[in-house]
Amino acid sequence: MRLHDKARPVKLILMDVDGTLTDGALFVLPDGEEVKGYNVRDGMGILMARRAGLEVGVITGKASRGFDHRAARLRLAEIHQSVADKGKVLAGILERRKLAAAEVAYIGDDLNDLDVLRAVGLSGAVADAHPLVRRCCDYVCRLPGGRGAVREFIELIIRSQGKWDAVMADLSTLLDLRGRSAAPAPRRKRP
Ligand SMILES: [Mg+2]
Repeated sequence: MRLHDKARPVKLILMDVDGTLTDGALFVLPDGEEVKGYNVRDGMGILMARRAGLEVGVITGKASRGFDHRAARLRLAEIHQSVADKGKVLAGILERRKLAAAEVAYIGDDLNDLDVLRAVGLSGAVADAHPLVRRCCDYVCRLPGGRGAVREFIELIIRSQGKWDAVMADLSTLLDLRGRSAAPAPRRKRP
């Protein structure tokens, strides 16, 4: 089946976090708290997916308080942290949302993503994913994890579904309105 045919039925886009939404780096503070960096372009991609009527979620093996804030800001529909068996979580999501596997896309970077990648309708790997992950995926991004791979994967789905123009029009209205409300009021000329 062609890539675009696999992307067309997708309703839910799931993703890994470390190495996919981030570049994999963890900065450990003296108190043990871990800090990660997220990419604003991926954040915009997730906003675009939501505007296209797609739901977005994460399944990650780790848990972090920082990610709770990021997830809330991105308004993720599914958030699963500290997951040992990602395949099991996916099965639960499909059951609860009454979705077919063909209606779900997943993007990841490492070996613990393989089960889910093999089960979903559309699978994606970040450019710097493990070779076995890259080999099993429908689409290998040109961009690496934490550097726009998620955005690239989402744009592929939006384009395949023929929603690109609508999302662009919607976004420009949204950004235009935001810009206008932030602009200072015009000064009145003195008589
Ligand atoms: Mg990972």
